[in-house]
Amino acid sequence: MREHPFQITLKSESQTVGPGISEERIPLFDRGEEYLHHLEGEAGTSISACYQCERCTNACPVSHFMDIKPHQVIRFAQLGWKEKLMSSSTIWVCLSCEMCSTYCPNEVAVAQLMIRLRSEASRSGIRPQERILSAFHRTFLNELKRFGRVNETWLMASLNLRPEVAMEKIRTGSWKHDLEAAVTLWRRGRLKLLPHRCRDMEEIRKISRIQGEQ
Ligand code: SF4
Ligand code: SF4
Repeated sequence: MREHPFQITLKSESQTVGPGISEERIPLFDRGEEYLHHLEGEAGTSISACYQCERCTNACPVSHFMDIKPHQVIRFAQLGWKEKLMSSSTIWVCLSCEMCSTYCPNEVAVAQLMIRLRSEASRSGIRPQERILSAFHRTFLNELKRFGRVNETWLMASLNLRPEVAMEKIRTGSWKHDLEAAVTLWRRGRLKLLPHRCRDMEEIRKISRIQGEQ
């Protein structure tokens, strides 16, 4: 019989829940609750207020590409199931479009929670399920911290020079498509070679520190 995603049996020890995946079941009112409070503080929202109506998932434009849906992310957060959240593809697939938060009847800041989970996963050293998206995320933030804004040419160059990205593009042959797109954009004058630094860099760094980004 197929197990419902939230048909969770509470156990205090690790348990294998899929091929090669071992999950730690965290008892409620122990570490689970502690982690929930931590996330609520970080994201500045009441995760406990969620009653699983699934409106966030229905509003999400990319939920089809996620291994756990936005309302399930909230449920795992309520249960303090950190490992499940950190290793999900969802936190990297999320576009931060805020549709989920907008449609939530309980004002749960789902999008903000996704951002916090992504930052936490970046720092955790856990191998991201979406390696290329994770590399893009880190490269984007690095560029933002360097210049205060993003120059597309430098962003793509920095991204493609990352070993994991370069190897994947060579393996799939997608570098050819990227090159063609870059040449087309260049000819149309849409790519600028030199980046322009934002005047108030200190403010950008301050925001970055507050956000706790890498
Ligand atoms: S829309 Fe809000 S209340 Fe409904 S499942 Fe999503 S987070 Fe929970
Ligand atoms: S912010 Fe992320 S989770 Fe929310 S609707 Fe947009 S893509 Fe989906």
